Amino acid sequence: MEIHYNEKLKKLPPYLFIEIDRKKKEAIERGADIISLGVGDPDLPTPDHIIKSVQEAVTKPINHQYPFGSGLLSYRKAIVEWYKKRFKVDLSADEICALIGSKEGIGHMHLGFINPGDVVLIPEPGYPVYNTGTIFTDGVPYFMPLLEKNGFLPDLDAIPADILKKAKLIFINYPNNPTAAVAPREFYLKLIEFAKKNNIIVVADAAYSEIYYDENEKPLSFLEFSGAKEVGVEFHSLSKTYNMTGWRIGWVCGNKDVVAGILKVKDNYDSGVFQAIQEAAITALTSSQECVKNSRKIYKERRDILVEGLRGLGWEVNLPKASFYVWAKVPKGYTSSQTVSKLLDEAAIICTPGNGMGKSGEGYVRFALTVNVPRIKETVERISKIKW
Ligand SMILES: *Cc1c(COP(=O)(O)O)cnc(C)c1O
Repeated sequence: MEIHYNEKLKKLPPYLFIEIDRKKKEAIERGADIISLGVGDPDLPTPDHIIKSVQEAVTKPINHQYPFGSGLLSYRKAIVEWYKKRFKVDLSADEICALIGSKEGIGHMHLGFINPGDVVLIPEPGYPVYNTGTIFTDGVPYFMPLLEKNGFLPDLDAIPADILKKAKLIFINYPNNPTAAVAPREFYLKLIEFAKKNNIIVVADAAYSEIYYDENEKPLSFLEFSGAKEVGVEFHSLSKTYNMTGWRIGWVCGNKDVVAGILKVKDNYDSGVFQAIQEAAITALTSSQECVKNSRKIYKERRDILVEGLRGLGWEVNLPKASFYVWAKVPKGYTSSQTVSKLLDEAAIICTPGNGMGKSGEGYVRFALTVNVPRIKETVERISKIKW
């Protein structure tokens, strides 16, 4: 039998990493000692107290049944408390929905709000799921370039009026993957005005809100600003904060009606987050945050060694204020793909080509700070031996 796939599956952008993946396999076959700075997945383990918490929670029969709905009230209350402490924002339990990782909620968001032909405003380079959800709902993506000259913020004034008329959602993501940029207060103020004026729901992706390098300059929450809750929601994840990418847990919070729309989609598609994992997430959010501080310290040491090392070799690199990515300009005369190939072929180093996450990423590569200090030093050492 011939299998025919849905047209939408065929419309998904080509998997740009296939070529890199093939080269990586070749390199492994010839016995190369690969240093992988490609994937944004923490190498640090989940803290012990969180693991102990899930071990206990798993033994309770009540947790073995379907969880359903927006999540345990105790989980949502822990989020209310955490939000208040971290952002001085008041939330109520009905403004929160538990998610099976924030990617799940981001991907399902469109099903709640996009009809065929509706426009979705998407930052590029950016997290691919914003566009995937658009394709799956027959929405129309409008890509907002994130350029260095604009501080990697989308230029809202540059969006044409006919696009604005059809736009239903705007995605933003700060601290940003892949550029590592953070958004200033003025941007959020402007964004809220923009959303109100054009009747566009703001979807803020704050997956990296806790991975920052200066205690005096913590990343802001979109919901800190007056009027934000009227126009949008914010997605959060325990993945990057507590090294829990494999556990699949996050949440969405903010506008009650938007949260209700997401919940309605979820109620019809999945049955919620395993309650034992919700209990572990409560432990993570309500215990000492020393473990997060420790992760930040580790990323900072890695960041400084890589950035200083690359700069010493003549690379143009901004010092990231947040996220665990280093967004580096490629050496003169090379494209992103050529740089990635050269690093892999000649130094067995894997990184992400900037254009793989959107065309404005051309001319950059992304390094994830997810290997230990000796390996970061080895990375710099190996790059220093390449002739460009
Ligand atoms: C990692 C990441 C997420 C999602 O992580 P989950 O594990 O699904 O919670 C969301 N947005 C961005 C930009 C990310 O990099």
